[in-house]
Amino acid sequence: MIRDPETFEALLDSVRRFVRERLVPAENEVAETDEIPADIVQEMREMGLFGLTIPEAYGGLELTMEEESRLLFELCKTSPAFRSVIGTTVGIGSQGILMDGTEEQKAYYLPKLATGELSASFALTEPDVGSDAASLRTTAINDGDHYIVNGTKRYITNAPHSKIFTLMARTNPADKGAGGVSAFIVDAQSPGISLGKNDKKMGQKGAHTCDVMFDNVRVPAANLIGDKEGQGFKTAMKVLEKGRIHLAAVCVGVAQRILDDALRYAIDRKQFGQSIAEFQLVQAMLADSKAEVYAAECMVIDAARKRDEGRSVSTEASCCKMFASEMCGRVADRAVQILGGAGYLSEYGIERFYRDVRLFRLYEGTTQIQQIIIGRNMVREARA
Ligand SMILES: Cc1cc2nc3c(=O)[nH]c(=O)nc-3n(C[C@H](O)[C@H](O)[C@H](O)COP(=O)(O)OP(=O)(O)OC[C@H]3O[C@@H](n4cnc5c(N)ncnc54)[C@H](O)[C@@H]3O)c2cc1C
Repeated sequence: MIRDPETFEALLDSVRRFVRERLVPAENEVAETDEIPADIVQEMREMGLFGLTIPEAYGGLELTMEEESRLLFELCKTSPAFRSVIGTTVGIGSQGILMDGTEEQKAYYLPKLATGELSASFALTEPDVGSDAASLRTTAINDGDHYIVNGTKRYITNAPHSKIFTLMARTNPADKGAGGVSAFIVDAQSPGISLGKNDKKMGQKGAHTCDVMFDNVRVPAANLIGDKEGQGFKTAMKVLEKGRIHLAAVCVGVAQRILDDALRYAIDRKQFGQSIAEFQLVQAMLADSKAEVYAAECMVIDAARKRDEGRSVSTEASCCKMFASEMCGRVADRAVQILGGAGYLSEYGIERFYRDVRLFRLYEGTTQIQQIIIGRNMVREARA
């Protein structure tokens, strides 16, 4: 749903200009330094990008899912590390509080998240707990007006920069499943929290992940999201479901950029006395990529509109995440092929995208986990 087409088009225009004039020229610097320049992060704050998904009443832009998706199509026509700066705040950092938080939690945290004054990380994965997230082992044991948290979280995006963690921890050790898990807002400066070294990753330089260790960390009971134990896993899954449409939109934007670069190269590059774009075998690779980007875009918009209408989109969100992330990998692979040897060299940028997009098939639920969700939903619906 687009609420006000004119205002929204103006927002898209400013994002397009920001990508063209500020982000694309900074891509190489980010890849080399592994840092997003502070002035770019500040501009993102000023544009309201940290508050995309937060209601206007709390100072955000309150975009609908369709608006958020269309904005991501534009914002992600550059290195995906730029999106990662806002990704965890826009996602569970704000949405868990928005969907299930108490009025006090919303009133305190959402305005600060919307302006980017506070940035948030989502801490679910652990050294021994990945796809089977409901079996997480980090504990949060009630001690009167506090919970005492112990455990280690792994691969936490933006942990070195975040001011708060949305933490999933087991409040009921007797319940080893999802029902024993609660969600907390944890101040990153709390005594007992320590960070591991930044992980050395395959790609997405400028986006940082690390381990987060909790050693007898005292978290106020008032920071239990929704003031109710045992709801944390449900909160995480609700937010991740929305996040799957978000991530699929990210994949569409990045894939479109990669395809644009490949097409431009194919037109400029001459072999056998003509532009390689004239060769039908090269056109076949361009055409396959075009059709797949278009298919993913249509899927994302359809799922987003259904979600905006209040319909359940568990299957659609997983279909989008699975198809778009796999599509993005195929588009990047074909782009390397279209560029030939240049596709393998860092100065052309395509090999960087090739490495960057590999992550999309892994995090926020691997392709196999999306297959499991889709298949399980299909069987359940058929039996109902
Ligand atoms: C760069 C990066 C950033 C991340 N950011 C965050 C973050 O901010 N917060 C956070 O909490 N987590 C984060 N993660 C963690 C990420 O979500 C997990 O890595 C992902 O969910 C997979 O878990 P795993 O790595 O433990 O793999 P595993 O669960 O060990 O899976 C390994 C393989 O087994 C397959 N597999 C597992 N179970 C099944 C099954 N039942 N059936 C079939 N196949 C199966 C998987 O699909 C995969 O191919 C991040 C990871 C990375 C790499």
